[in-house]
Amino acid sequence: MRAYTLLAPAKINLYLEIIGDRPDGYHELAMVMQSIGLCDRVKVRPNGIEDFQIHCNHPQVPCDRTNLAYRAAELLKNEFPDSFAQYGAAEIEIDKQIPVAAGLAGGSSNAAAVLVGLNLLWQIGLTQPELQELGARLGADVPFCISGGTALATGRGDRLEPLPDLDDLWVVVGKYRTLAVSTPWAYKTYRQEFGDTYVSQPQDLARRQQRVHAGPMVAAISHRDGEAIARELYNDLEKVVLPAYPHVAELRETFTKFEILGTMMSGSGPSVFALTSTPETAEQVRAGVRRTITDPDLELWVAPLSSHGIHI
Ligand code: ATP
Repeated sequence: MRAYTLLAPAKINLYLEIIGDRPDGYHELAMVMQSIGLCDRVKVRPNGIEDFQIHCNHPQVPCDRTNLAYRAAELLKNEFPDSFAQYGAAEIEIDKQIPVAAGLAGGSSNAAAVLVGLNLLWQIGLTQPELQELGARLGADVPFCISGGTALATGRGDRLEPLPDLDDLWVVVGKYRTLAVSTPWAYKTYRQEFGDTYVSQPQDLARRQQRVHAGPMVAAISHRDGEAIARELYNDLEKVVLPAYPHVAELRETFTKFEILGTMMSGSGPSVFALTSTPETAEQVRAGVRRTITDPDLELWVAPLSSHGIHI
């Protein structure tokens, strides 16, 4: 039987607005998600034993049942017991390039890769929307990670509308290696501080979503206008993460000193990205930030925006 090696891209949020409370207890969100060319490599191959095995080269990533990639494999096994009985379990090897707990959806992207990889290995034949429906059970970011590119994400973040590709822009992503922000903490703190602004009635939620659909960010993306996109960058979670993590605020401030289109924290942080219009500028910005912040704990990557989701 064959083995598959999949590339699992990181995502950044060009836009993240917390709209209110959903009847199911989750936050109602409006986000613009964007894949970038910084990818983990996920290899899936039959292992001839009863259980899935996870290997990963990153010390902070658990190689047990709590790994999101393992949970993705278990989900597919439970949904398709006949395929599992026919083909058996698999070894899943994750070559981690995406920083962990960074707001870049590394775990979600690994889970997405396992769904795509096992679907091929076990010849199940699920379509992309079917895989995305399964992926939503593992986490709100998983459906986007499967299809990737540029998309408006509403609901919990799992209702997706594709937007035009933006593959002629670049990002510099910065993250302090030893700094991690818990996503549940960020949302909980936001609720404590800004819960009184939440919309929760279904008709009000619908009205707000319509405004977002016509939002200036979506228009800027439709025109593929890098400067307009940069002006519309937005992330509600900056309001709670930046005051609590001065290093993140400092990194964001440092980016603004260079020739960038715009800068923003991604997801719940602590990674911060800066948009540039050429790879050369991105490299200059990386070098400039490196000279300004000499702390060796700061890691910086340069990557293009990408139109790819999980791909072989
Ligand atoms: P998101 O943006 O979706 O909130 P994130 O980028 O902030 O995700 P991840 O890198 O996915 O965060 O990791 C969050 C936590 O999940 C880590 O602390 C790690 O222990 C755990 N984890 C489980 N499986 C994985 C995986 N395959 N890759 C990375 N982390 C994983």
